[in-house]
Amino acid sequence: MSGDNLQQYVDRILFTEEEIQRRVAEIGKQITADYANRNADLLVIGILKGASVFMADLLKHIDLDVEIDFMSVSSYGAGTVSSGDVRIIKDLEQPIMGKDVLIVEDIVDTGYTLKYLVENLLARGAHSVKIACMLDKAERRVTEIQGDYVGFPIPDEYVIGYGMDFNQKLRNLPFIGTLNPIYYRQ
Ligand code: 5GP
Repeated sequence: MSGDNLQQYVDRILFTEEEIQRRVAEIGKQITADYANRNADLLVIGILKGASVFMADLLKHIDLDVEIDFMSVSSYGAGTVSSGDVRIIKDLEQPIMGKDVLIVEDIVDTGYTLKYLVENLLARGAHSVKIACMLDKAERRVTEIQGDYVGFPIPDEYVIGYGMDFNQKLRNLPFIGTLNPIYYRQ
């Protein structure tokens, strides 16, 4: 994977930069309204690295005093298939006892990652835990996990851009697209 033309890696654009920005603004507005009268501190947790771009954009549309933190997790499975065996690679820098927690994630696929995170954060004494995810691949779900705030539903296709990678690259595409099949097979 080399060269400077990122367009060659893209098969189809699913959501343009403008569509994404409009939707993220709507979600931020909804979150602002929903948490306006809360009694607890609100902590927004971005899940690295996939949610980094969504997190940065979303935060700018949340008109509340929030704290932010980041976690990094990996799920070990056969090849690219996610499994229930989730490990924390980078943990929070603060206790979350009594706080309202909003997890910001790029995509909910099987739901294993978020199921683990929700249970883990509730066990640490969070007052509430909700999920904001940019994309929802509902037909792939094997857990009961659902996003509280969902950018767009998508079919079962591998997507790239807006934080989401292929072999750790292409996260910097400003839109969300499907990967050109010639790269998928490599
Ligand atoms: P889950 O635990 O829900 O199966 O997996 C969620 C994680 O798998 C996401 O946070 C994301 O990192 C990765 N993932 C799932 N589907 C895709 C996809 O289509 N493209 C990319 N780049 N990552 C995906």
